[in-house]
Amino acid sequence: SVVTASTAEDIAEAVERARTGVEGWRTLPLRERCTIVGRFRALLAQHSDDLSTWVALESGKTEAEAAAGLLRGLEVLDFASSLQNLDVGGALDVSRGVRCETRREPLGVVAGITPFNFPAMVPLWMMPLALVTGNAFILKPSDKVPITACKLAELSAAAGIPAGVFSVIHGGKETVEALVGHDDVRAVAFVGSTPVAKSVYAMAAQHGKRALCLGGAKNHLIAVPDADDDLTAQAVVDSFTGCAGQRCMAGSVFVPVGSARRIVPKIVELASRLRLGDDMGALIDAAARERLVSAIARAESEGATLLLDGRKLTPNSDQTGGNWLGATVLGGVKPDMACAQTELFGPVLSVVEVDDLDAALSLEQHSPYGNATSIFTSSGATARYVSERSTTGMIGVNIGVPVPREPFSFGGTKASRFGHGDITGMSGLDFWTQYKKITSKWALQPDQTWMS
Ligand code: NAD
Repeated sequence: SVVTASTAEDIAEAVERARTGVEGWRTLPLRERCTIVGRFRALLAQHSDDLSTWVALESGKTEAEAAAGLLRGLEVLDFASSLQNLDVGGALDVSRGVRCETRREPLGVVAGITPFNFPAMVPLWMMPLALVTGNAFILKPSDKVPITACKLAELSAAAGIPAGVFSVIHGGKETVEALVGHDDVRAVAFVGSTPVAKSVYAMAAQHGKRALCLGGAKNHLIAVPDADDDLTAQAVVDSFTGCAGQRCMAGSVFVPVGSARRIVPKIVELASRLRLGDDMGALIDAAARERLVSAIARAESEGATLLLDGRKLTPNSDQTGGNWLGATVLGGVKPDMACAQTELFGPVLSVVEVDDLDAALSLEQHSPYGNATSIFTSSGATARYVSERSTTGMIGVNIGVPVPREPFSFGGTKASRFGHGDITGMSGLDFWTQYKKITSKWALQPDQTWMS
């Protein structure tokens, strides 16, 4: 399949069609929008095998990972299409004879800009909530994975989502600038790397529009001496190798406290069993592989020890092409080394050993990123100690990929998120809407006060 970049005219036309389309869409009762979005959910489920294959083909994920991402997207659709039962607004007599009512209203034309690593899931973090709340949504998927987005658009049309209410435009920096700079686009959600998140956020602010921009990550997985060895080792391996480490929730620094260092050999052993092509997918492109290979070489030159070297691993014979890197574990990493500080975005785990829990916490507290932190322990008190002191937005207790599920919201802190609020759940609803406050009085009150 070939996808061409949208021209300036295409973008202007998409916004115009959205502007026209949203007029009828926003006036439908919420229940009707929920029903139509529910039909879209049913079609996605019906075509999930086909969609997962597209996700796997264009992103390099395994089919199982692609299917899991889609399932997570379906959960957001479940939440969005049940909004009728969740969000009834509010009304109160605020004074004698005076009633105040709030109405959640759509913003109008809104946009989402998404990364390569979850071609279905991240668009589905945004689009269902934006649509049920009555907006028209324009998606600009990653130029590295444009096809799944086209499939979503085909299914949305088949579900009866009106023309212009959901559309897809393609391209890179220029397309994003045209979209964010367009006067009729009222809000922008972005998910991608920190430098681009920061610049899109600044661009949106400059144009006076609402923005929520999620960025990169460097997540710490802390294990204390009372951690369960098997549970911890499996969770750490799943976390740093899942999606070949190309996810913002991947644990990329393992921090064993004291005798918890005994778990490291088990992690290495489990990770060494993973076969490329079967258990782990490919990297997105040759540049990503090159970047990771040189990061591993740099770590070695800075004094790290290669406990597991995935550079020479080749995929199973079914695979043709692709950019592959096996699970890699770096031991003896010091906190100031590049591999402990920067987002590598690949299946590379840096092990930083520390003597006490506060030293482990200090690593994540000093990280510029703030997506997730996990603590592995059998003590509730330790779990609570870490949850209270961590500076990240999402905490895992004995879980290596602590993604909150609906109706809880997804989002980090610090350089992992620019803007207010989170992207899914109730917080997501707030992002795509504004509250209107209506204050009414229908009769002069005999007992009125100065507040009436
Ligand atoms: P990216 O920043 O390169 O691209 C994201 C989007 O921005 C794409 O649509 C791309 O086409 C567009 N883009 C690229 N360069 C641009 C520029 N200069 N100006 C304007 N737009 C531009 O990110 P990626 O490589 O596709 O995705 C990986 C990154 O995304 C990682 O850093 C990862 O941690 C992050 N991520 C974060 C979350 C989260 O929830 N915080 C989720 C998934 C991925």
